[in-house]
Amino acid sequence: MSSHTQAPIPHFIRNIIEADLASGKHTDIVTRFPPEPNGYLHIGHAKSICLNFGLALDYQGHCNLRFDDTNPEKESEEYARAIQEDVQWLGFQWHGEVRWASDYFEQLYGFAVELIKQGKAYVDDLSAEEMREYRGTLTHPGKPSPYRERSVAENLDLFQRMRAGEFVDGAKVLRAKIDMASGNINLRDPAIYRIRRAHHIRTGDVWCIYPMYDYTHCISDALECITHSLCTLEFEDHRPLYDWVLDQLAVPSHPRQIEFSRLELRYTITSKRKLLQLVTEQHVSGWDDPRMPTIIGMRRRGYTPQGIREFTRRIGISKSENVVDMAVLEGCIREDLEARAARVMAVVKPLKVTISNFVAGESQSREAGFHPEHPEFGSRMVPFSKEIWIEVDDFTENPPAGWQRLTPGGEVRLRYSYVMRCDEVVKDVAGNVIELRCSIDQDTLGKNPAGRKVKGVIHWLSAEHALPAEIRLYDRLFTVPEPDSDKTRDFCEFINPASLTVVQGWVEPAVRDAAPETHYQFERLGYFCTDRHEHQSGGKLTFNRTVTLKDSWTKDQG
Ligand code: ATP
Ligand code: MG
Repeated sequence: MSSHTQAPIPHFIRNIIEADLASGKHTDIVTRFPPEPNGYLHIGHAKSICLNFGLALDYQGHCNLRFDDTNPEKESEEYARAIQEDVQWLGFQWHGEVRWASDYFEQLYGFAVELIKQGKAYVDDLSAEEMREYRGTLTHPGKPSPYRERSVAENLDLFQRMRAGEFVDGAKVLRAKIDMASGNINLRDPAIYRIRRAHHIRTGDVWCIYPMYDYTHCISDALECITHSLCTLEFEDHRPLYDWVLDQLAVPSHPRQIEFSRLELRYTITSKRKLLQLVTEQHVSGWDDPRMPTIIGMRRRGYTPQGIREFTRRIGISKSENVVDMAVLEGCIREDLEARAARVMAVVKPLKVTISNFVAGESQSREAGFHPEHPEFGSRMVPFSKEIWIEVDDFTENPPAGWQRLTPGGEVRLRYSYVMRCDEVVKDVAGNVIELRCSIDQDTLGKNPAGRKVKGVIHWLSAEHALPAEIRLYDRLFTVPEPDSDKTRDFCEFINPASLTVVQGWVEPAVRDAAPETHYQFERLGYFCTDRHEHQSGGKLTFNRTVTLKDSWTKDQG
C-alpha cells in the first residue's frame, strides 16, 4: 500500500529517523497513533495519522493503533469503532491487533507499586483544590504536601486499599515524588492515579482507580517498543515527565518523544470538545454532518482519502505554527476529484425554457464523454427535447459588462448541443421571469454557427428526461477564520447561517443508478457526491456538494 501520491516532503522528524537508522540506534521504526475514544476524529487527527502511519510505511516499520482509554466517563465503544473505520478509510492499517491502554492496567499498577517501593511515589490525601494551592505557580515554587513523607509501607498499604475500593472518589491520589520546586510544573509531584468509580468500556467495573494520561502514555509506548513517540507541541513540557517515569522503571524500551505543531484550520474548529458541543446543541445534524471537519463528515461530503492525504503532505510537519486556510484543503480535494469524477450536468435553480422550433425526430441528441481527459470513463447520450431546464442565474435582462450567458434576443451554446436564442421572456404578475421561449439553430450541432461567434456555453437538461434530486449546497460552517479565538464569545455565534442550502434540482438520467458515495462533477457547479446514507440508487437521488469548482471565498465566482 502506498501512502503518498507524491514524494514525501522532508521534515525534522524524518531527519531524526534517518539519522537513527543510519547510526544503527534503530533498525526498525515503530510509531503509534494514540487517540482517546471520546469523540470522532477530525482533520487535525488526520495530520497525525498520516504522519505516524506514513512514516511507518516509508521506512518499512510499523504503526500501532492504541486507544488511550483512561477516562472512562467520556469514552465509548461507538467512538472506538468509528476511529478504526476512519483510519482504514484514510488508507492505513495498524500493525496487529488494536491496542488499548487498558490492556496494560495491571502492568501499570505493578509499575506504580515499584515506584512506591523506590520511594518515588506517595499517596496524598489533599483535596484537588488544596493540591492546586500547594503546587505553586510559574513564578512561585510549590510546597510539599503534609503527606509527602509517608513511609513506603504506609503508601503500599494505602495504594492497595485505593484499588480495593476502600476510599471514596477523590479522597486520595497517588503522586509521583519528583520535585515541588521544579521550574516545570509538570514535575511538581504529578498525580499518577486517581479514584474514580466509573464503568469502563473495556474493563467494566474491575477498577476503581485509573492511571493518569502522562503516566500511562509513556509506559504504554515503552511496552510496545515504540521508537518515536510523536505528539503535538502542548506536550513539550510533559517530556521531562515522560522521560522521568521511564528512567525509574525496568521497561523494555525508552521511546523518544518528539513534538510537532498541531494543525489549525481556518473557518473551522479542531477540538473534539467543541465539535461535541456542535452536535449536542444540534447546530449540525451529527458528527457526520458534511459541514463538520470530522473525517466522517468530510467523507460524507465527498472529500477523498487521497485528497486529505495530499493535504497533510502539503502542510508539512514542523514546530512552528500550522494555521492553514480552508482553501488549501479545498484545493487538494478539487485537484483529486478533477481526475476522479465523471462530469455530468445538473440544474440547481431551474428556469423553464420552451424550444419553439423543436422538431421531434429532427432535433437531435448528442453523445458526450464523461471526462474530457479520460475516455475510459465512457460516454452517454444527452437527450434533447422541447422543454429544457437552464439555471436561473444563466439568464438576465440586465447583463453586466462582459456577460456571456443568455439575455433577451441573445444567443448561447447549450453544452453538447445547439446554439439557442432567447426570443421571448414570460413573467408572472409580480414581474418574475418564469419561462423563456427560445429557438435553436438546427445547423449548430457539433459546429460553429455560420457568420457569427457565440461565446457563452451554459449547462441544461431536457425536462422530459431529467430526474429530480435533492441537492445540498454546503458552505463553510463558520463566517470567520478563527471562530474560537475570542474567549469572551461562544464560537457558536459565528456559525454561518448559509452553511447549508437544500434545493430540489434536476440531474441527468445517466446518474440514476449511481451508488452511494459516487463522485461527480456537475459542470460549472462543482463537485458533488451521492449521500452515503440517504441517497437511493435508482430511487430518491441525494447529492452533497463537496466543493465548488473555484474558490469562491477568495475570488469572484465566474
Ligand atoms: P482534541 O483536542 O481535539 O480533543 P486530542 O489531542 O485530545 O484532540 P487525542 O485523541 O488525544 O485528541 O489525539 C490523538 C492524537 O492526535 C494525538 O497524538 C494528538 O496529538 C493528535 N492530534 C490531535 N489534534 C491534532 C491536531 N489539531 N493536529 C495534529 N495532531 C493532532
Ligand atoms: Mg488528548
